[in-house]
Amino acid sequence: MKQLGLEDIMKSLKKPPSEQRRRIITEAYEFAKKAHAGQKRKSGEEYIQHAIATAKVLAEIGMGGKTIAAGLLHDVDEDTPVTLEEIEKNFGKEVAFMVDGVTKLGKIKLRGSHEEYYLENLRKMFLAMAADIRVVIIKLADRLHNMRTLDHLSPDKQQRIARETMEIFAPIANRLGIGEIKTQLQDLSFKYLDPENYYYVEEVITKSYKERERYVNQAIKDLKKELQKEGIDVLDIHGRAKSLYSSYEKLKKYDMDINRIYDLSAVRLIVPEIADCYEALGIVHKKYRPMVGRIKDYISLPKPNGYQSIHTTIFGPEGRILEVQIRTQKMHDEAEFGIAAHWIYADKMKKKTWKEYIFGAKKEKIEKELKWVKQLREWQNEIGRDDEEFIEGLRIDFFKNHIFAFTPRGDIIELPEEATPVDFAYAIHSEIGNSTVGAKADGKMVPLDHKISNGQVIEIITSKDRKIPNPDWLKFAKTSMAKTAIRRVTRKENQQ
Ligand code: MN
Repeated sequence: MKQLGLEDIMKSLKKPPSEQRRRIITEAYEFAKKAHAGQKRKSGEEYIQHAIATAKVLAEIGMGGKTIAAGLLHDVDEDTPVTLEEIEKNFGKEVAFMVDGVTKLGKIKLRGSHEEYYLENLRKMFLAMAADIRVVIIKLADRLHNMRTLDHLSPDKQQRIARETMEIFAPIANRLGIGEIKTQLQDLSFKYLDPENYYYVEEVITKSYKERERYVNQAIKDLKKELQKEGIDVLDIHGRAKSLYSSYEKLKKYDMDINRIYDLSAVRLIVPEIADCYEALGIVHKKYRPMVGRIKDYISLPKPNGYQSIHTTIFGPEGRILEVQIRTQKMHDEAEFGIAAHWIYADKMKKKTWKEYIFGAKKEKIEKELKWVKQLREWQNEIGRDDEEFIEGLRIDFFKNHIFAFTPRGDIIELPEEATPVDFAYAIHSEIGNSTVGAKADGKMVPLDHKISNGQVIEIITSKDRKIPNPDWLKFAKTSMAKTAIRRVTRKENQQ
């Protein structure tokens, strides 16, 4: 296997690195290399190879310097004598926070039933996402390299890790819209979980590959000529290969008959503006008859993970059925790199940090982005829709007894159902609880017995003049933390 080095990360960056970015990546590389010196992976490779591979994936999907540095350092805290404090001293709070987050995500309890194990995993992922989504993205990159080197583990571990990847990591990558990682995770898991079908699909698809490649290249030429004749600025047009796993999913639906899968070959067209997408669609349809019921406008109606594109299936050149996907460059980047693409565009929006970007200082922004968090809740209902056993597990709604509320700064507070601003205040700090005089939910004043709903931003209003809680709060406080604190203070007060 090829030995990776620092330059492989630099070459994978989406744009030439600034001096500052080059420096933090180089320093993290040197630091990690020293920390892991002498350690080997099960594959026999130097441990640093795993760290570099993880960082390389992060560079490929467009993540920033700090995230790539954290990717290089992600196993340092857990597997070497180097402490988190040293990481913070050398690379700052943000990088240390991410490394710590990845380490914590890795510490999974193996006790309990299958369901409990998965639900615990999902819960952790959710919390990590809410705290700093970059932690989860590093974890996905880490998992991708672990999957690529899975051959070196025992068959037992291969099964467990592949299953976890298919059921948890791939759906999360999908949910975050990182198609690039999702596809690879699925194909790699597929190979271990169902080798028989994997190799079958691989063979069927490879057999027809040469012929499809010739056809797609011809179709690209014809389409490009047609579009340019009509004055469309074609930024890019390329063939898209369907992944093995999604081909298999399709094949299952069509009695394993490959001739019935229409989107096995697809052409992807990138144009400058949204208006160009619709214009290009019209030109394609004028020349090639579209198939009824196969036009999907995900620009007007994006998929739940934000995916945008127009899909149409046409009777293309040579009268053969062909899928055409039309989108702008921004939509394309978001489809490949998902939430990660926001960093590329976040630069342009002059946002400072991710937290600011997601939770923003502006209220409209908070509302908009919290919708995204709410989507995460729906996502748990969607994962493994076809997997009966897993659906069984998900029936135990893991949000059933919990809600997540946010401070105006974007910190997440986990509370029981029907919790109130009083519970929220005590969950932050007992002093804040004791001096609470009012509360706002999503910017509006609410009574203190307001039942907080999932995803709300709660702002607690305190007063220096209030030193003790109101005993009446006991009537509606839900958490034992709040109740105990209120009782303790009122008892003391009565004694005096
Ligand atoms: Mn790792």
